[in-house]
Amino acid sequence: MTDDLILVVGRVETGRPGPAPTALAARDGRVVWLGSAAEARRRSGQRVELPGAVALPGLVDGHTHPAWLGEAAEQVDLSGLDLAAARAAVAGQAGSRWIRGFGWDEARWSAPPHRRLLDGLSDRPIVLHRVDRHVVWVDSKALAAAGIDRATADPPGGRIGRDPDGTPSGLLYDDAIRRVLAAEPPPTADDRRRWLSRAASRFAAAGLTAVHDVCAAAADVEAWRALRAEGRLPVRAHLLVDGEDPALDGALAGGPRRDPWLSVAGVKLFADGALGSRGAWLSAPYSDAPDTCGRPVVHGEALRRRAARYAEAGFQVAVHAIGDRAAREAVAALAAARPMRHRVEHAQVVDPQTVTALGRAGLVAGIQPTHAIADAPWIAARLGPERLRWAFPWRSLAAAGAGLVIGSDCPIAPADPLAALRAAMAPPIGEGLSFEAALAASTRGAARAAFAEADRGVLAPGFAADVTVVDGEPRRADGPPPTIRATFVGGRATFGPR
Ligand SMILES: [Zn+2]
Repeated sequence: MTDDLILVVGRVETGRPGPAPTALAARDGRVVWLGSAAEARRRSGQRVELPGAVALPGLVDGHTHPAWLGEAAEQVDLSGLDLAAARAAVAGQAGSRWIRGFGWDEARWSAPPHRRLLDGLSDRPIVLHRVDRHVVWVDSKALAAAGIDRATADPPGGRIGRDPDGTPSGLLYDDAIRRVLAAEPPPTADDRRRWLSRAASRFAAAGLTAVHDVCAAAADVEAWRALRAEGRLPVRAHLLVDGEDPALDGALAGGPRRDPWLSVAGVKLFADGALGSRGAWLSAPYSDAPDTCGRPVVHGEALRRRAARYAEAGFQVAVHAIGDRAAREAVAALAAARPMRHRVEHAQVVDPQTVTALGRAGLVAGIQPTHAIADAPWIAARLGPERLRWAFPWRSLAAAGAGLVIGSDCPIAPADPLAALRAAMAPPIGEGLSFEAALAASTRGAARAAFAEADRGVLAPGFAADVTVVDGEPRRADGPPPTIRATFVGGRATFGPR
C-alpha cells in the first residue's frame, strides 16, 4: 500500500499523552500510521521531510469573520493612524463602491471623530468601523443615505451619537450600525465569493485547517456552498448565521447540515457590545463612566425564547457576551435550552457564579486570548480592581467544566493561531493556560464545538490528517515566535511546505 503523504519532522505533538513520534503517514485523508523517521523511510509514498519542525494537530480558529477579513483587503486600513493620516487615507481611496474603512482608534487623537471631519473628503459616502467594530464613523452623505437625521430615534440595541442640539454627530453604536450598512448597495454573490476565497487562502497560510465563521451573513452561506461545490476550499468551515439577518430562516431551512468541509450549524445572537466603546453590558456601572452600565442588545425573555426555539430545531446557539451581566443572561438562556453545545462567545468578564453555571450546563466558552493583550492598557479603568479579577477567567472556566475554544476574532485581531496560543499561555491579565490546555482549545475543543471530535483534533490513526507544521518551539511563550512551515488538510498541502 502506498501512502498519500509521509511527513517526517523533528517532533509530532499528537495532542495525546505518550512519547512523541517523529513521522506520520496519511491515506485517503486520514492518519494511518505514526512512528519514527527511520521506520518512515521503509514506507512508500509521497515523502515530505521538514527536519527540526514540529507537527501539531491542525490548528482551528474558533472565532472568525471571514467575509470581513476578505473584504478588508478592499477597504482603507486605519489601524494605528492619527486623525490627519486617517483623513488623508480616506481622501485617497479609489473605487466605485462606498468608501469603507476599519481600525480607527481615537484614543490619542487631537479631536474626537465627527461627520464634519469626513464631509468633503470624497463624492462617495464614507463608513469607517472603529477597531472594535462596535462603532462606525460616517459622513453626512452616509447619514442621508440611511435616512438618519435629528428626528430619528435610537433603534433597540443601538445608539445614534448626537451633538448637543440633537443633530447626529456621525457616530453610530451597535445596532444603529445596521441601518447605515443596509443603505449601501449590497455586495454581489461574486463579491462574497471573492472575499471568502481570499480569506480562506489567508487562513491556510496562517496554518489554519478549520475556522468557525461565527456571524455569517445568510448570503455568505450560499457563497461558502459555492466554494465547497467547486472544490476550492483550502480550509474547513463551521458556520453560525447572524441571527439578525433578514434572510436567516432561508439560510437555516432544512435544519443543521454537517459536512466534513462545511457545516451550517446554528445561529449567532448578540447580548451586548464591546468594552472599549463601553457597550459591554455590566451589572454595575463602568468604573470610568459611572452613568452607564453599557448596553444590552438581545436579552431577557427575548434571548431565552429565541435560544430555545433554535435549539429545539437542532441548531447550536452562540451568544456574544463580553460584560458580566451579558454573560449571566447568556448562560441562563443557553442552560435552559435543549443542549446543543451552545456557546458563549468572548466570555470576557464573568463572575464566579456564572463561571460555575456555564460549566455545569456543559456550555462552550469561545475565548480570544489576543484580546487580553489589546485590552490590557485600559481594561482596569473600565472595570475597577474588584471586577478585573473576573476578566479572562480561562482556567476557572475549564475547571468548571466548560468547553474552551480559542479564536482570534479576525479581522479585529490578526488570524494568527500561534500568537493566540502564546497569548493563551501568558496573558498580561486574566488566567493563563498550560500549553496542553491551550493547544487542546485550538484543536480538540474546537473540533468538539463543531461536533467533529470523532474525526479531528488529535493526530492518531483514523483521524483526519489535518496538520499544522511550525518552525520554532510552540511550547514556549517567550523568545522568537514560531512560524508556519506547512499546512495540510486531509493529507493535502494547502500551504507550503517551504
Ligand atoms: Zn467577533
